[in-house]
Amino acid sequence: MCISHIERYGPPDKTKSPRTLQSQDLSDLRAKKARIATDAAVQTVLNLVSVNNLEKSILELSNFHNRHSKSVYIHEVADWIQRQLLDIGFNDVSFHDYNEDGFDLKNVICNKGVETEEGCILLTAHYDTVLSKDPDDVTSRMPGANDNASGVSALLEIARVLSGIPLQRRVKFAFFSGEEQGLWGSTHYAHHIKESGEKIHVVVNMDMCGETGFLANDNLSYIDIDNGETGTVDSNNIPSKNFGLKMQGLAEVYAQIDTIFDPIDASDYMPFESRGYVCIGAYDGSAISENPHYHDSSDVISNLNMNFLNEVTKMVLAFVLSETK
Ligand SMILES: [Zn+2]
Repeated sequence: MCISHIERYGPPDKTKSPRTLQSQDLSDLRAKKARIATDAAVQTVLNLVSVNNLEKSILELSNFHNRHSKSVYIHEVADWIQRQLLDIGFNDVSFHDYNEDGFDLKNVICNKGVETEEGCILLTAHYDTVLSKDPDDVTSRMPGANDNASGVSALLEIARVLSGIPLQRRVKFAFFSGEEQGLWGSTHYAHHIKESGEKIHVVVNMDMCGETGFLANDNLSYIDIDNGETGTVDSNNIPSKNFGLKMQGLAEVYAQIDTIFDPIDASDYMPFESRGYVCIGAYDGSAISENPHYHDSSDVISNLNMNFLNEVTKMVLAFVLSETK
């Protein structure tokens, strides 16, 4: 694909992302946080989320020597993700190919359900890894357990649970490469979606979701929303905040975690935001310089709080269910 008309991002530096949002940042919301009653049918679906499955996926992804986008391993990882989706029983699984900086790369795309006028829910996570000390090191060990096997495993588990459930809306799963070089995969895919005209109801990105200890308490997750501070399009801000509030309300009912808001930044939702799509995300706040495991060969599963990741996965799944009823 010709990329001369596609914008370029630098390597996403989450360590410089804006602060936690205070309540006054949300004061322009039209909708008040909805009171959500527990729905037994939703609870039954959420109970299907398995921490053992999450763990198994993270271990298998971490077992690739690395998942650097310029490494010899990156296509094996794409094949592995495709195989997981086919094994779940999906048949609409494909590679979205692109070339960037001379590298032929793939996003893995899976559709559940057919395209509708109302637009799809797009769930996104990147599968590549990098080392901070040398971003061009393609041969060293990079387990990337939290960044971002955690997000990939959560999406695969959501896909597994949803596979047997009829939904009113298409749910699209996108697994991106090239995130660490500058949101390559998501930029090409957002461009492709815009060109194709397929409508998106909301983008939900999962990037680093299982390493606790870097926010105010060990049970706290960020919900990333577009408050206008980091995005470039204004019309999608209020819808993003409303989706964020909806997710927060669902977390209170269905997930054993606390949530606070921060601005979307430095991850794969940004190329969608800049094209006007409404975006939110889940993020554990661990991409800070105080975290010795961030973009390091020590980003291994033993640093993760698997029960926390299990609850974050349930929060995102509850959101998907609430938007597909
Ligand atoms: Zn990441």
